[in-house]
Order: sequence, then structure tokens, then C-alpha cells
Amino acid sequence: MENEILQQIDIHQIQQSRKDSVDWDNLPFGRVFSDHMLVIDYVDGAWGKPVIEPFENLSLSPATSVLHYGQTVFEGMKAYRNDNDEVFLFRADQNAKRFNQSAIRMCMPTIPEDVFVQFVQTLVDLDREWIPTNEGYSMYIRPFMIATDPYVGIRPSATYKFMIFTCPVGAYYTEPVRVKIETKYTRAAHGGTGFAKAGGNYAASLYPAKLAAEQGYQQLIWTDAQEHKYVEEAGTMNVVFQIGDTIVTPKSSDTILDGITRKSVMEIARDWGYKTEERKISVKEVIDAIESGELKDAFGAGTAATIAPIKTINFEGRDYELPEVAERKFSNEVLDYLNRYKHGETEDKFNWLIKF
Ligand SMILES: *Cc1c(COP(=O)(O)O)cnc(C)c1O
Repeated sequence: MENEILQQIDIHQIQQSRKDSVDWDNLPFGRVFSDHMLVIDYVDGAWGKPVIEPFENLSLSPATSVLHYGQTVFEGMKAYRNDNDEVFLFRADQNAKRFNQSAIRMCMPTIPEDVFVQFVQTLVDLDREWIPTNEGYSMYIRPFMIATDPYVGIRPSATYKFMIFTCPVGAYYTEPVRVKIETKYTRAAHGGTGFAKAGGNYAASLYPAKLAAEQGYQQLIWTDAQEHKYVEEAGTMNVVFQIGDTIVTPKSSDTILDGITRKSVMEIARDWGYKTEERKISVKEVIDAIESGELKDAFGAGTAATIAPIKTINFEGRDYELPEVAERKFSNEVLDYLNRYKHGETEDKFNWLIKF
């Protein structure tokens, strides 16, 4: 299967790169697109011929099923380039695996993991000059799949389009965020789709996030759907705390997206000799730890920002201030280590990199 698909990638290179028209010192997140994209269609129960072609608009029937019922999944990953022109993908196998888990939940076809990774690598390699090398810069990679039947009935589509495009992105300055613990709206419930990177999850989070933004909070801390008693995620990131000497994060379940950044942070913490726990964390435990001074660190973890420090937590109308971000040891050290790791500037001791 792998070689069959790979031998067939048809590459139509752009005549003239758009690189020179880009303002490389001012790269807004997700708005500048590299020269090429990869497209493969699923028809009659099988994947067709993969094509890499110049980035361009799609032409779709207004009846295209994804536009109505949201049968779509995506991934988010990054490529990094260092001054020796070495390019790295970080734990790409994990994105491939998660993509398929999302696809199965949304009743969509899967892609062999090694083929997924090869698609990413081939596309990134072709546009490797688009990967910025400035400190903190990288290339964001967006693989996704949409249901393409031109049919407004509700049923799993018979045809799909899988695509990948890439965006050079600037340093993601993470101003420490003020977050609000959400006790009314729900991101994910047991039996639902919270563990999947499925489009509708993000659409449903916009309204509660907007209400919180109007009150001055950049992000929500989602809590469990039954009781709103346990912490689940921070916006579209996982959430990690240091309480005393222990690094702790909510345990993965079908309501929590199994983030690769969080997983890596926890592995590094264990390697550095911290005690780590993946378990239920109640809101009360977090608030008590802030009040007793035991809460040393709190941050969101995700590919876009890597680490997003939390400075204020609002709960039931009250703001709780957390320790000074500059003085937090763990999150600052792990961010620095991950940045160096992803650029091949430290030993690949966990075997997480693909280099090309
Ligand atoms: C993508 C995502 C994350 C973070 O996952 P990473 O693999 O670390 O990028 C966390 N939560 C949600 C809801 C997400 O969509």
C-alpha cells in the first residue's frame, strides 16, 4: 500500500515561487501559505492518485456534504529548520495515528500511518525553503479531510478529499493568559467527539469563548459535562499544573484530546525526575492549591504555542492570581528544551524526530 501510493505522487511544481512576495519578518499565524499543497481523493472505496500542486482555491458544489453537516477532521503539526538547513518533524507518527482515530469516529476512511507521514514529509521537503529559521519561527502543517458528496441527505459521504497545506509562522508570543473556569457550557461529553480533531468541536466552543472574552478572559478552562467539577482542557490546548513538586494533568479520556505536546511535557518531566500524575483534577483542588501557595505553575500545552502560561484563573466571579511567569522554573525550562529539541540542537533521546 505504502509504496503503491508513494510511487504515484504526481508533482506539478509552481512556475514561479511566491516566496519573494512574503513579508518574512511579519508572519501572522495561519494567513500565509507556502507554494504547494497535497491532494488525494477517496472514491469508490479507495484512495486515488496523490497530487502535489500549486496552492489554490477549491471548486465545490454548494451541496457538498461537509458544508452542511461538518463531516471533517484535521491535524496540526509543525516542521522546524535550523541554520544547517536541516528540517525536522516532531512526533509525526503520533499525528498520523490521531488523524485516523478522529477519522474513524467521524465515519471517514483512514490513511496508513506511514503514508500520512510520507505525504507530510514530501510536501514539506518540496517547500523547505518556506520554513523560516528565525528563533521561534516554524512551518505549521495542516492535514485535513472533508466529505465531498454533492448530496444534502444525512449519511456518511461516499467520497472524500484529503489535503495538506503549510504556513510559515512567526514566533507565537504567548502573553500569559487570563482564563475563566467554565461551569455552564460544555466542550465534550462522554460518548461524544471530544477526543477527535473534528471541525464541529471548535465551532461549538466559539460562543462560550466569546462570552468569556467579553469579560476579559482570553481562554476557558473546560470542565466535565456532568458536574462541571473537574478540569479538562484550556481552550484548544491541554492543561498542565505543578502542585508542590508534582506535575499533574487531567487523564486522557474520550472528552480530552490526547495532545502530543502534553504527552511530551509529561515524559520530559519524568525524565527530569519530577513526580508526574495523570488523573482527575477537581477545580477545588486547583483553587485550594492557589490559596495555599502550593500551585507553582499552570499552562496550556499545544503545538501552536507549545506552552501558554496562565497568569489568572477566574472561578465563580473571583480572580485568582498565579505565581509570576518569569519565576516559574518548570514551564520555562521545558519550553526552552522543547524548542532546542525540535531544531535538532540537543540529542534526540526519545527518538521523536524525523530529519531530512
Ligand atoms: C490539538 C489540540 C490539543 C493539543 O494537541 P497537540 O498534539 O499538543 O497539538 C489539545 N486540545 C485540543 C482540543 C486540541 O484540538
